Parts: sequence; structure tokens; C-alpha cells
Amino acid sequence: MFRRICKNMTCPNEECPCHTDSNPGKVVTHGFYKTRAGKRRRHRCFICGKTFCSTKNTPYFRLQHPKSTFDEVAVLSVEGVNKSSISRVKSLAWNTVHDWLEKAAKSCRKFICNKSKVMDIHQLQADEIRTIAGSKKTPVWLFAAMEVSRQGWYQ
Ligand SMILES: [Zn+2]
Repeated sequence: MFRRICKNMTCPNEECPCHTDSNPGKVVTHGFYKTRAGKRRRHRCFICGKTFCSTKNTPYFRLQHPKSTFDEVAVLSVEGVNKSSISRVKSLAWNTVHDWLEKAAKSCRKFICNKSKVMDIHQLQADEIRTIAGSKKTPVWLFAAMEVSRQGWYQ
């Protein structure tokens, strides 16, 4: 069986030394598995020997529908469509829509926690501006915030 090294992938097993981002490159492809939505890639960690699917630790994990349907539900929610309307439009159970939006929110919180830096904020100045670039139908909102005591940061 041909196995390809996944250079940017880390092991989802929290007890594995390969789990940290500082030690990637120990995961290889390990065949496929079937779902109702099609086949999905399976991976194997060199270090701990555990196998896992490509959607492990993502909101798509154990999803029984195409990823595109999940994404469409998330986009509709962001656009302000309520869960009942999404359920009717996408022919999904209300509980399914609710669970998916909870998964999406949890994933977003995890992303923000991992990517944002903690700052000691004393005085925050924030402002927004709405502008029209191209079409009046698609206004653009710009948001800026600045920590006042660190104004020298721009020098
Ligand atoms: Zn591992």
C-alpha cells in the first residue's frame, strides 16, 4: 500500500508526542473508509500507531451529510436565518441544525483561543465604518480597535 507523509498534520491523540504542532510530519495516509456522504481519508500516526480519520477534531467529525451541507447551514445562520427556517429549507431536523451550529460555534471558539494573543488591556478605543465598495447591495463594514496605552506601537 502506498503511504504518503502528511507534512502539516499532527496526531490528534493528546498523549502522543506528535500531538504538538512543533513536531509534525509523523502522520501517513492509511487508506479510506466509507460514509453515506462518500469515502473519506484515513491516517495513521508513526509514533503511537493510532489511526484516525481526516475529520477528527473538526466540526465535520462523524458527519452523516456532505461537508457542503454543513457549510451551507453555517452560512445561513451567519446571514441571520433562524434554525427553524434553516431546517425547513435544507430538509434537516431542527435538532440536527442545532447540533451543527453548536459544533461550528465550538470550533470557532477553539480557533479564536488558539490564534488570539492575550493582552493586558487598560483602555480600548474602538470604531467602525460602513462603506460601499463596488455595489450598494454589498456594503463593507470595517472595525478597528486600539489599546490606548500602546499607541507608540505604530511608531
Ligand atoms: Zn500519535
